[in-house]
Amino acid sequence: MSNREDDWKNKPPFGPKPDGFKAQWHGKCHCGRVTYELSREKPLASKYCHCGDCKKLHGAPFQWAAIFNKGDINFANGTEGLGFYHTADKGRHHDLPCKVYCDFCRAPIMDEGRNMILLFPPLIQEISSERGVEAFKPQCHLFYPQRVLQFKGDGMDKWEGLDKKSASLDDDGNVVEK
Ligand SMILES: [Zn+2]
Ligand SMILES: [Zn+2]
Repeated sequence: MSNREDDWKNKPPFGPKPDGFKAQWHGKCHCGRVTYELSREKPLASKYCHCGDCKKLHGAPFQWAAIFNKGDINFANGTEGLGFYHTADKGRHHDLPCKVYCDFCRAPIMDEGRNMILLFPPLIQEISSERGVEAFKPQCHLFYPQRVLQFKGDGMDKWEGLDKKSASLDDDGNVVEK
């Protein structure tokens, strides 16, 4: 039984596996209760984010996110075992955009946006393979001035805030003349 309020549970990225879905990558949280598959060969983009929220919510020097369409992912058990966190009001509910975790081991799985998902690649089992490293290679740094590590000569684009919506920076964080 489903009521209108629960409709999102039956839609991408949580709904049943679509016909013709071909798994290219396999993801699993730390405890193994949450598993998923990805059908797209390569993420639409791959980025490092240095913003304060990402660092705090990941307990990490920066966040690594790979962008996919919602239809590119299929969770083996739908929403079962997932926990949600809506940063805007600091509530544990599913309102977009929100963070998605394994509700048991608390491994961060993805950020669900209104149109896309920002998936965290470390959960992908093939991520350290040559194919994984190549496909998920990041292209840019977001919120670069908030970094706690240095990234010189990595050839990646660096942005003051979001990519293409803020100033472009050099490796030292100086604004690049346009
Ligand atoms: Zn888990
Ligand atoms: Zn961030």
